[in-house]
This record gives sequence, structure tokens and C-alpha cells, in this order.
Amino acid sequence: MTGGEQGTATEVGHVSIDINGRPCECGNVGCLEQYCSAVAIHQEIVERGLVHGAESMSHQQACQALFAAAENGDANAQELVQRIGRYVGYGCVTIINAFNSRRIVIGDIVSHGGRILLDAACDVVERRVIPEVKDETTIVLSDMSPDATVTGAAAVAIEQLLSHPTLLTSRGESDESREPDEPSSTVP
Ligand SMILES: [Zn+2]
Repeated sequence: MTGGEQGTATEVGHVSIDINGRPCECGNVGCLEQYCSAVAIHQEIVERGLVHGAESMSHQQACQALFAAAENGDANAQELVQRIGRYVGYGCVTIINAFNSRRIVIGDIVSHGGRILLDAACDVVERRVIPEVKDETTIVLSDMSPDATVTGAAAVAIEQLLSHPTLLTSRGESDESREPDEPSSTVP
């Protein structure tokens, strides 16, 4: 896993897939997460009127309702899930070309999009990645809960600590060697 100088590397959600696309909070435009994050999907569901009462649902609830409708054969829901899948596919193409990953696990709420979403993503990869590389890459849906990101973040922190056990003690030492605080200024 690549963290980068400041730990902000591999933010695939902020890779632009459209230089004239939707503005993103990060300052870029056309970021992937503007098209296939839970927030973006929820907005799309509301705009298309695909799920009754979606306005008052959480992002997760709205996405789950969309995926359920698609599973039950709603053609409009299926069309949106396929569209989301294609955007996930564009993200996979970027990951493959940047990292030549052997296995890509699609997580968070989009992993609940099922076969319709996965097929659309794989179809994009099939057409946009050179065969020799694509054939060695597996793309699967995660079966973890949507908040697996939190678990992953905890795992990274624990791994860092186990790899560098002095992280804890060196913090303590630096605290001890620290100059005492300047006396506070006189309060009138
Ligand atoms: Zn962004």
C-alpha cells in the first residue's frame, strides 16, 4: 500500500475522469467520487425519482433501495446501477495502470451493487486495459460491511505500530525532553 509523503496517496476517488466534469470539494473537477460515491448515487436516485422517499433516507439506505430495485428487475434502477458500475470500472482501469494490481476488491456501499454493477465494471476494464495485464487482474466485490474503511484504517495504524514499536515510546521521550512551556503572560 502506497501512503505517499503526507499519507494522502492512492486517493483514487479524487482521480479525475472528466476534466470538464462536476466540481469536487478537493478543488479538482470530474473526480471519480462525484459519480459513484454513496453521496453522488443518492443524489442521482433523488434526481431520477427512482426510489420513493429517497430524499429522507440516509445515503446507505437510498443506495440499498436502488440495488434492491435493480435486483427485482426495475429497468431504470438497473440502468443507473450499470452506469455506477462503469464509473467503478474507470477507477479500476486507473488502479490497474498505476499499480498493476493482481486483485481489486470493490468495497463500501457500491459492493452491494451485485452482479449488475460488477459486470459493468469488468466490461469497462475488458475494453480499456491491455489484455496481458487485464487477464492477470481479478476484480471482486467485498463482502465486508460498508464501514470496512474504518476497519482498514485501524489495521493500518496497528500495522504501523507493530512495525515501529518505538512510535509510542519515542513520543514519550520527546515529551520528556521538550522544553517546559513558556510562562503564561501576565493577566491583568
Ligand atoms: Zn476530488
